[in-house]
Amino acid sequence: MEVSFIKSAFAESHYPPPDRPEVAFAGRSNVGKSSLINTLVHRKGLAKTSATPGRTQSLNFFSVADRFYLVDLPGYGYAVASREAKKSWQRMIDIYLSHRDNLKAVVVILDIRRDPSKGDVELIQWLKEYQRRVILVLTKSDKLSRHQVISRAQSIGEELKSISEDLPTVFSAKTRQGREEIWGKIIQAAEIEGLPVHTL
Ligand code: GDP
Repeated sequence: MEVSFIKSAFAESHYPPPDRPEVAFAGRSNVGKSSLINTLVHRKGLAKTSATPGRTQSLNFFSVADRFYLVDLPGYGYAVASREAKKSWQRMIDIYLSHRDNLKAVVVILDIRRDPSKGDVELIQWLKEYQRRVILVLTKSDKLSRHQVISRAQSIGEELKSISEDLPTVFSAKTRQGREEIWGKIIQAAEIEGLPVHTL
């Protein structure tokens, strides 16, 4: 299946036309967002980690099988980012998440080993307010024992229950645990049944 980079956008006028469903990926810097995207589409270097975390990055649009857009949103929460950089991230994301008509779901990625940060919670709350569908992913599960994974997934799920209807999916870019489940949720949210995911 064809996966291709379409463009980077810093402003609404640069987005590709909203002519197909779209699913966006968000998470704090270094959480494993690029690794998740690359695992989903089986392309090693498709989504790239920024060389300078915390700098203002673009929204990166990819086309999957000409059926939908996958959007890599810039990572947030980098501690030493300047106030100006944080503000400009916020502005860019607010405009995108509130205006984009063809946006069907936002995959929010959390590290299974950490409690959700203030930034994570604010993002999920904000998405709920704007009635955006959230797909929760708890990544880096390979770093914990099976027992720890279950208990962390339960406690994070419990903490976010009041702001997200989605039950978190446990994922690892290393073992690919959860890949099929996440695809299932994306396909359902974006209504792209028949997408030959197995050929990705
Ligand atoms: P991004 O900044 O959110 O795009 O994060 P990256 O995908 O670049 O990952 C940040 C770091 O975490 C890299 O060193 C990855 O190799 C590592 N990483 C990402 N996902 C996983 C995972 O599922 N398991 C393990 N063990 N490491 C991961």
